Amino acid sequence: TQTTWVYELAEPTSTYLITLQIGRYESIRLPKSPVPMSAALPQRLIRNFEYDFGRQPQMMQLFIRLFGPYPLSSGYSVVVTDDDLEIPLEAQGVSIFGANHCDGRRSAERLIAHEMAHQWFGNSVTVRRWRDIWLHEGFACYAEWLWAEESGWRTADQLAAHNLQKLRNLPQNLLLADPGPEDMFDDRVYKRGALTLHALRRAIGDANFFALLRDWTTRYRHSTAVTDDFTGLAANYTDQSLRGLWTAWLYTTELPAL
Ligand SMILES: [Zn+2]
Repeated sequence: TQTTWVYELAEPTSTYLITLQIGRYESIRLPKSPVPMSAALPQRLIRNFEYDFGRQPQMMQLFIRLFGPYPLSSGYSVVVTDDDLEIPLEAQGVSIFGANHCDGRRSAERLIAHEMAHQWFGNSVTVRRWRDIWLHEGFACYAEWLWAEESGWRTADQLAAHNLQKLRNLPQNLLLADPGPEDMFDDRVYKRGALTLHALRRAIGDANFFALLRDWTTRYRHSTAVTDDFTGLAANYTDQSLRGLWTAWLYTTELPAL
């Protein structure tokens, strides 16, 4: 006897975002979420999960408010594997975490926010060329800071100052607009990308900044984009020239001041 399983995704999906997760998992649904949310995880981790991932519905609510509607009709799931994973990973409509990210101390909440934000930045709006990877990782990292602010842990301002200081102690030989294949997922791409967005937010103000993000996710929904698309769109949200800001943050290796 033979069983054929058919999986269907309603929205356009990049091939790198397809994943198949198989394990001895329990399936649970998360209550009180603005979009359907579920999880698949080993029975032994359910207790930790309910605490560690318990604020995902609020996170989802915040991101919908700031980034626009959740891009997928099928909801959002997380898988927690029985093994530890070095880092979690996003896929289409699902994020995969390791057992170590479910330790009962909420120590991975930053990463939970990061992976969820990829559903907008990376999965729905996808880079056309890998050199523009900051459009995924810088944005997802900035979403971590936005959640930190919302949850009352740290303000985005505090996290920006802290991370800028940390970057100053690292080699300043990375070009954010084209980090090269070796440094594509270097942590400096994440942090400098987030700092670039924070600098932009300061320059154009909160109302314009978040309107721009929603315009970005709407205009390039289920589509691909490059850095010039973002800087071009940003120009609609201010009367001042942003050229100096982009040159300093994207096209120069040395770190500017915030
Ligand atoms: Zn990421």
